[in-house]
Amino acid sequence: MSTALQFDPIRLPPECEVLRREVRAFLAAEMAAGTFDPNAIDKDDLFNASFSQKVGKKGWIGITWPKRYGGQERSFLERYVITEEFRAANAPVRRHFTADRQSGPVLIKYASEAIKMDILPRITRGECCFGIGMSEPNSGSDLFAASTKATKTKGGYLINGTKVWTSNAHQADYLIALFRTSAATKENRRHGLTSFLVDMKSSGIAINPIYNLTGLHDFNEVVFEDMFVPDSYVLGEIDGAWKQATSELAFERSGPERFLETFTVLIELVRVLGDKPDVRAAEALGRLVAQVHTLRRMSVSVNGMLQAGKEPIVEASVVKDLGTIWEQKLPHRAREIAAFTETDDLGNRAAFEEHLAFATMIAPKLTLQGGTTEVLRGIIARGLGLR
Ligand SMILES: Cc1cc2nc3c(=O)[nH]c(=O)nc-3n(C[C@H](O)[C@H](O)[C@H](O)COP(=O)(O)OP(=O)(O)OC[C@H]3O[C@@H](n4cnc5c(N)ncnc54)[C@H](O)[C@@H]3O)c2cc1C
Repeated sequence: MSTALQFDPIRLPPECEVLRREVRAFLAAEMAAGTFDPNAIDKDDLFNASFSQKVGKKGWIGITWPKRYGGQERSFLERYVITEEFRAANAPVRRHFTADRQSGPVLIKYASEAIKMDILPRITRGECCFGIGMSEPNSGSDLFAASTKATKTKGGYLINGTKVWTSNAHQADYLIALFRTSAATKENRRHGLTSFLVDMKSSGIAINPIYNLTGLHDFNEVVFEDMFVPDSYVLGEIDGAWKQATSELAFERSGPERFLETFTVLIELVRVLGDKPDVRAAEALGRLVAQVHTLRRMSVSVNGMLQAGKEPIVEASVVKDLGTIWEQKLPHRAREIAAFTETDDLGNRAAFEEHLAFATMIAPKLTLQGGTTEVLRGIIARGLGLR
């Protein structure tokens, strides 16, 4: 077996614990002020512009970015703590989260200085929402089959085609999207795609909502008809987006959001079991907590490696694979564990059942979004030299 898999044994340094206390105090004050309810099931209010701006004021968006772009030049481990606390509290971060996690870092790497100076500070102030325009009706896992066309015209490109499952598009100020600028070649079927910044105020864009199983509107179909994108909005190498895609993936796949999306079920389970669970329930609960603790150690490790300038693509894929399967199975396990527990407090039981129902409905998507289990395992196998 190859030694290509390496989880550095990283622990969160003391400054992270100081920051954690600050973040918890901020969140507690916001909950007390009624900005959001951590126990709410109806997640229609996850886009909260004024909350994002408050987070921006704290300096907690783009915290790792250079100061000249509005960042704080702090560590990925500090960013980890912020993500973890916000996710565990079910805070409404949707307006800024994608830009903070991956769109900003892509712009830092590939955008012109003028675009960086214009957009990055707005992201850090919590004023910018981004979406990712990769998937198409006939191209999901096989990203490089994308066919939405960018045709060269005077001063830029005209875009025609359809993206699908585009989270946030209905709220987004910008997308970072992959468009076809040339045909693939015989030698390289990944050739011919270019990454573009898309201003969602441009004419020629139609956004059609897609409602998920819970009835919420998170993602969309986005249709482009002769939408103009200026030359300056090309990100990186023309026809060479395939070379750029991989570094984005470690950012997208390794965070605590990859195993905490159904976490409220675990919290409600603890409430239902109370402080004297029977031996069977205590053992099952202990097992779940040990598993989430291990996932967390692995996720912290990947973030520590990112901080050290490494590109832990395989390790990030392992975290997403194990993490999403864990969070996907959690509702089912929680239902089994709670099945034979008598609860005096019927309020707790009702809240548990509500969270369980919601988590059960979102569970199928967890192993699809951001790369399916099978595709991740292909990446892991390749990284280990097994294929
Ligand atoms: C909640 C949610 C939000 C999303 N948000 C976005 C977004 O914002 N932007 C965006 O661009 N996309 C988004 N997506 C799309 C997502 O990235 C795709 O659904 C995903 O890449 C899978 O593509 P697909 O649905 O076309 O399935 P397919 O690629 O058709 O896969 C179907 C099945 O075949 C398997 N399969 C495919 N290829 C292989 C292979 N080579 N080896 C083994 N098995 C394989 C897959 O694992 C899967 O089980 C989102 C999806 C979800 C569920």
